[in-house]
Amino acid sequence: MARLDRLLANLGYGSRREVAALVREGRVVLDGAPLKDSGAKVPVTAELPTRLTISGKPVDPPAPLTLLMHKPLGVVCSHKEPGRSVYELLPRRWQARMPGLSTVGRLDKDTSGLLLITDDGPFLHRVISPRAHVQKAYVAELDRPLKGDEAAVFAAGDLMLEGETDPLAPAVLEPLGEKTARLIITEGRYHQVRRMFAAVGNHVTGLHRERIGGLELPADLEPGGWRILSADALAGIF
Ligand code: URA
Repeated sequence: MARLDRLLANLGYGSRREVAALVREGRVVLDGAPLKDSGAKVPVTAELPTRLTISGKPVDPPAPLTLLMHKPLGVVCSHKEPGRSVYELLPRRWQARMPGLSTVGRLDKDTSGLLLITDDGPFLHRVISPRAHVQKAYVAELDRPLKGDEAAVFAAGDLMLEGETDPLAPAVLEPLGEKTARLIITEGRYHQVRRMFAAVGNHVTGLHRERIGGLELPADLEPGGWRILSADALAGIF
């Protein structure tokens, strides 16, 4: 249970005073009955949006919240980088949520595909930890034809990227065409896929992430689209 005013303020509906005004105006309704007291206790479960409405609309889902997004090209994953960010593709109010939402790892501005966004810190760390060996599958478009030895080089588990002191873990390369390949990695080092292809004398001209662990980017989710992930879908990652 949580205090209504604190819960709604944490969900970005305004200050506790502003939330109290919404309650006074009868716009906060639980199970069909307007709440009269902004200090009322409300149950905080994933089902809350089916029970609580604000101005006639289901309340935003409470934490923990994890989203799956089809990241489009041209947007950045960080609040700090210049340019339009993935957070701007979400409802505006969500930028004021507490705890805040973060991307689970990052995709470059010019990479598209499956991106997870969460306010669940332990979940985030579980997915990005190299020890968890969660696979990330990318399709890379290349500047030059594959030479044929890349799969063996990546599988060996001793490739050293420029400027690093630890070799990369083994990775799986599946050629898909002369200049297209799927690369499956279990780490998430800075610009890892682009740097791996640079290390074998190639250059990535297009990059798309299609899968994280057991979770695939849904074919019907347009670039810029997103969905809330259920607990079952989340468990399917590991
Ligand atoms: N590797 C990269 O080089 N870029 C990404 O966006 C993701 C993985």
